[in-house]
Amino acid sequence: MEKHRYLIDINPNKLQKEYHDVIIIGSGIAGIYAAIKIPKEYDIVILTKKTLDVSNSALAQGGIAVSLNKDDSPNFHLRDTLYAGAGLCNERTVKVLVNEASENITSLCKLGVEFDRSQNGGLSLTREGAHSKNRIIHAGDITGKVVCDKLNSIVKTYHNIKIKETTFVLDILTENNICKGVIAYDENNSTFKLYLANVVVCATGGYGQLYAATTNPEVSTGDGVCFAYRAGAELMNLELVQFHPTAFYHPENKNFLISEAVRGEGALLKNIKGIRFMPEYHEFNELAPRDVVSRAIFEEMRKTDVEYVYLDITFKSKEYLERRFPNIYKTCLGYGVDMAKDYIPVAPVQHYCMGGIKTDEYGRTNITGFYSCGEAACNGIHGANRLASNSLLEGLVFGSRIGKEIPNILNNSLKKKDFTFRYETSRAPLNIDKQAIKKEIQEIMTKNAGIVRDRDGLLFAKKKVDVYSNLVEQMTNQCIDDFELQNYVLLSKLVLESALEREESRGAHFRSDFRETDDKKWRKNIIKKWG
Ligand SMILES: Cc1cc2nc3c(=O)[nH]c(=O)nc-3n(C[C@H](O)[C@H](O)[C@H](O)COP(=O)(O)OP(=O)(O)OC[C@H]3O[C@@H](n4cnc5c(N)ncnc54)[C@H](O)[C@@H]3O)c2cc1C
Repeated sequence: MEKHRYLIDINPNKLQKEYHDVIIIGSGIAGIYAAIKIPKEYDIVILTKKTLDVSNSALAQGGIAVSLNKDDSPNFHLRDTLYAGAGLCNERTVKVLVNEASENITSLCKLGVEFDRSQNGGLSLTREGAHSKNRIIHAGDITGKVVCDKLNSIVKTYHNIKIKETTFVLDILTENNICKGVIAYDENNSTFKLYLANVVVCATGGYGQLYAATTNPEVSTGDGVCFAYRAGAELMNLELVQFHPTAFYHPENKNFLISEAVRGEGALLKNIKGIRFMPEYHEFNELAPRDVVSRAIFEEMRKTDVEYVYLDITFKSKEYLERRFPNIYKTCLGYGVDMAKDYIPVAPVQHYCMGGIKTDEYGRTNITGFYSCGEAACNGIHGANRLASNSLLEGLVFGSRIGKEIPNILNNSLKKKDFTFRYETSRAPLNIDKQAIKKEIQEIMTKNAGIVRDRDGLLFAKKKVDVYSNLVEQMTNQCIDDFELQNYVLLSKLVLESALEREESRGAHFRSDFRETDDKKWRKNIIKKWG
């Protein structure tokens, strides 16, 4: 069991305090959109650990799923999401997601986000894996950047919203299971501060950085999931980690994503011998759910003893590819791969976390005043395997729900909260190579808690992480490196424990020692809670 409730000792009398109505942690799509949806009479602060524009959201390429076509409906979107989720979706929250998709896309368009349009002026719709209809709206192959740039430019004009960059949230402050604010570290002047509010929204994204190869940026270290856990929040299904089938494979770059939309436009997967293999694995071929495609590639790599396979879209013209995938085309070309002529070397890497802070359809956690949305949260919409392009949508739908709910929440709570609890421990500085430990954890996780897992590997990994956990337990945490290291250690332990517990294979969680899905025993969520 963890020893310390807070990452640092806290003496509220000695710390500067700042009061707001709402604190939003994270400046990805979920956090920023929630802020925009809160009525303007409320005073909001957004805390983000780097700059406003650094997030997973800004890197999203393919698009956002929404059923707009005449031949489509929220019911088809629901069916596809449930199918990909492999029996673990919460149908109630998925219904919210698909039914509220189009109103939020309309809202984005009204805010001025410019998606690609077809010749008739309607939003252009493409297909991605496991979608039965064309329902992915996009802005070239930089959808996330286009959406985030617009939302960021809007949020900066709101007088009721204060933005604090380079502000790392260590922990949420709680008394009697009521959230009262957060303690944060200002990287610029190396100071700690208490931010106090009646509502705290955690939109800190996922924990891709636990893995050596990931499409996620450096900020995705699962801080929010960890501070929620230390505060007593329930976490759900942490073992369910999605590996994207097609990251660019190059000795100098193994993290750049080749969007699923490339397969949506017809690209074929071929092994190193040039043989197409997906028809052997799934009836949907290259557009099977992500977990299926990733495992198929993993198997082909194993059979051929090569660390990649190929993606072939050479049947499309250079002009078409440059227009449809300008960013991907340019990036590949920078590494000497011309998509119009060459096969693209690809391999699966960590991409998305289905697990996170357990929430309901209004983003509520089990801690009063503490909410979560986006990738940090887990309300069951993705089940055991996220359907492509459902996560930007998740940020919009559930961010918006929290935003709109704020007046009701604040009407029912006292105006200002204070935090007087003093937290003192005896910890001591420790001279260790923190970067080296983080790197080793990433490698251990990739090897043992990756696409294919088994009990021996998971136990081996847990033993290793336990050693680090004991080592850093009594360490004084002074800077971001320390805070993140503590979170790496805590979260990798929780992911490994959950992966050991789920003795079956389901969606993205594949156990080579329990290859079957066991609905009788395991069609249920795994909850982790401190204490
Ligand atoms: C390369 C790539 C392509 C993708 N393509 C698509 C796509 O086409 N469609 C789709 O639906 N999804 C896609 N995804 C997934 C999707 O982008 C993410 O799941 C989604 O953007 C998550 O949004 P979020 O707001 O929850 O978190 P994020 O966008 O990750 O934002 C989290 C924010 O929290 C901040 N933060 C974290 N910890 C702290 C802390 N301790 N203190 C303060 N701030 C903190 C971060 O700095 C960041 O600003 C893609 C992901 C990647 C990486």
